[in-house]
Amino acid sequence: MKIGCPTEIKPQEFRVGLTPQAAMEAVAHGHEVIVQKGAGLGAGFTDDDYVAAGARIAETAEQVFAEAEMIVKVKEPQAVERKMLRDYHLLFTYLHLAPDPDQTHDLLASGCTAIAYETVTDDRGGLPLLAPMSEVAGKLAPQMGAWTLQKANGGRGVLLGGVPGVGPAKVAVIGGGVVGTHAARVAAGMGADVTVLDRSLPRMRYLDDVFGGVFKTRYASAGSTAELVAEADMVIGAVLIPGAAAPKLVSRAQLSTMKHGAAIVDVAIDQGGCFETSRATTHQDPVYEVDGIMHYCVANMPGAVARTSTIALGNATMPFMLALADKGWKQACADDPHLLNGLNTHAGKLTYYAVGKALGIDV
Ligand code: NAD
Repeated sequence: MKIGCPTEIKPQEFRVGLTPQAAMEAVAHGHEVIVQKGAGLGAGFTDDDYVAAGARIAETAEQVFAEAEMIVKVKEPQAVERKMLRDYHLLFTYLHLAPDPDQTHDLLASGCTAIAYETVTDDRGGLPLLAPMSEVAGKLAPQMGAWTLQKANGGRGVLLGGVPGVGPAKVAVIGGGVVGTHAARVAAGMGADVTVLDRSLPRMRYLDDVFGGVFKTRYASAGSTAELVAEADMVIGAVLIPGAAAPKLVSRAQLSTMKHGAAIVDVAIDQGGCFETSRATTHQDPVYEVDGIMHYCVANMPGAVARTSTIALGNATMPFMLALADKGWKQACADDPHLLNGLNTHAGKLTYYAVGKALGIDV
């Protein structure tokens, strides 16, 4: 199969759909890989890296789309890219169609077959192509929160780990899933006094079994959340209710109970955020202050570490990409119901129920 990888054109997107390692594997499987000139530069991969992996470099996105049968990307195709999609194309990327009627319409009009990373599932009920980005955002959260706590950035001037004779900062992590666990591990590793709040007892049992002694767990009642938020130097928001907006767990009034200059890192901002005072920010201007509390609410945190994120995403997508290329999408999806769950559009029809429900389109 001819596999194409165009340069990402969404603003501030530095990741790339195929790493040179993934290109090399595809070539070893007998496929032809066409990468747009400069596509990997934002993630630290040169054209020479791709050529060494056996890929061919194309000057323009038009050439990639014209030649390739499968297009592998990171972000949803932008309007100019959607104009280049044809009915013979297999598109493999993040799509997030439910809130995006324009994109959905264009994909259906193109007739392409589109498989969305975010709806591919695994045997344990997880989302294996979303998890790597949650791992990245979780590990970044204490790092960004530690920066926000610095005096020059408006924070209260507290060092997470303390020093001999000075106690550590207190960190509350609301939500103990993929983001929360990675955030708690890093914050604890930096020496902070960390408590994870969650509403799932099985999840807290698991966390206590595996991480007991590294960080504490508390059931996330309104009362315990209020208590820990008031004591904290840093609060990390990491809740998810699948398919729904994040619940608002900390009100504006509660900010007045917090320590002046404390940091909020609302990772759940991509689902609306779990603090009443959260609004999405960018890497250029990541932090703002409300009632003396510093808010870090960047909606695409993994973009800050584009190279790590690209490699992590590539590791997760590669087996699916190879199955699609080796067998064709029909056979690959017939063999793997989890990959079939990724199918969102085919031949002008919407094939994903939740998207159809959200947009009022028959599935
Ligand atoms: P996850 O499903 O692994 O974990 C969510 C956890 O929240 C679960 O353990 C669940 O029990 C818990 N939870 C649900 N309701 C709760 C409540 N009321 N109180 C306490 N805990 C509650 O999800 P995840 O992969 O860890 O993602 C968490 C959030 O981070 C999501 O909103 C996701 O979209 C977001 N995210 C953001 C970025 C970014 O760049 N900002 C990147 C990756 C993920």
